[in-house]
Amino acid sequence: MKKSMTLSYVVDGGLYLNITNKCPCNCTFCIRHNGDGAYGSDPLWLEHQPTAEEVIADLKKRDLDSYKQIVFCGYGEPTCELEILKTVAAYIRSVTKTPIRINTNGLSDLINNRDTAPEFEGVCDCISISLNAPTKEEYLKVTRPCFGEDSFRAMLDFAGHVKEYVPDVVFTVVDVIGKEDIERSREIAESIGVRLRVREYIPE
Ligand code: SF4
Repeated sequence: MKKSMTLSYVVDGGLYLNITNKCPCNCTFCIRHNGDGAYGSDPLWLEHQPTAEEVIADLKKRDLDSYKQIVFCGYGEPTCELEILKTVAAYIRSVTKTPIRINTNGLSDLINNRDTAPEFEGVCDCISISLNAPTKEEYLKVTRPCFGEDSFRAMLDFAGHVKEYVPDVVFTVVDVIGKEDIERSREIAESIGVRLRVREYIPE
């Protein structure tokens, strides 16, 4: 496994932030199973957990106005380091109007052991939550969260709650789940009141 301190990298005009490698899941499709980076980046396994100050120092070397969007994603789950995420997002907000998105597994409440949805107010313009599958059973099989059974419900509840604080909340599934499961996922998204985005599965 190759490591580096790649805290940000560019994909298709967007700036992607890699603030942690921690994650409570072990998704079958996780790109971390396939290599050490993503989309041609340097290794995304971090030599150590960065502080917010280290991430901000990295961002200061870049022109943040020049990106289409700034995305917290990473080789890990960004809400595992919620305080760092919020501090870095506040810095970004203070220097640019570039939209901010958070890619998350939606398990922030279980990770942080509290109701975290209100903490996202003003932090980002969009939250993209991995729905992954339309039923609890399929979700557990694919996502393999350490929190077990409660995870699917917690993820749905987080989505329903966080849309009170974030303008755009999106569920994502990958196209390989098939038409029927995509339709069932769409019904779940509609019942929660969020959008569904079907993304192409691209193994690295
Ligand atoms: S939630 Fe994301 S980082 Fe975590 S295992 Fe799943 S795909 Fe990988």
